[in-house]
Amino acid sequence: MELRILRYHYTNSYLILTNNGWLMFDCDCAGTLGALYKALKAETISLGEVNYLLISHFHPDHAGLAQDLKEMGVGLIVMEEQRDFMHVQDAIYAKSNDNFFKPIQEKGNRYLPCAQSRSLLAELGLSGEVLHTPGHSEDSVSLILDKEAVFHGDLPPYEQAETLHNIKISTSWAAIMEKQPAMAYAGHWPKSKLPTQPAIITEIV
Ligand SMILES: [Zn+2]
Repeated sequence: MELRILRYHYTNSYLILTNNGWLMFDCDCAGTLGALYKALKAETISLGEVNYLLISHFHPDHAGLAQDLKEMGVGLIVMEEQRDFMHVQDAIYAKSNDNFFKPIQEKGNRYLPCAQSRSLLAELGLSGEVLHTPGHSEDSVSLILDKEAVFHGDLPPYEQAETLHNIKISTSWAAIMEKQPAMAYAGHWPKSKLPTQPAIITEIV
């Protein structure tokens, strides 16, 4: 796995190398395009080499730049499980009078259900899948790279999951841990190593 971690404002953006440029997992708030350019430059990557964007969930600090990136030629992949939530951030940005924000247009997005994500990733030369992992929000998804990594956005970290006593979070982590990722990469927390023998966290009721 060829991975770059960008932190140019508030949220971690992950770049994963595919057989056709980089796949970005999460972007940051509206108005951070200049900061993103700088962060990419530091990694000697140009935005033209970023061909795909997948978003963990459509909150402003993960999806605010999405429409800007689409207009720069980045292809937005939306899981069907997320489709009804693509405009959640519009009202939040409207309230904050943010002049930079552009609502995500339907046109040009690639929609597919999580169940078909393995074949999409295989097209990109990646072995893995996208899982629907609600808990932080209903539209949250996690990107799994087989045996290597999970990118889980704002789903609280595995170490915290048990103490939260939230069945959705526990169930989402149980589904992730079945795939045995070695490392966890979150939206705002530092990366962490996952245990190879997970505690049985689905038994929380
Ligand atoms: Zn969030």
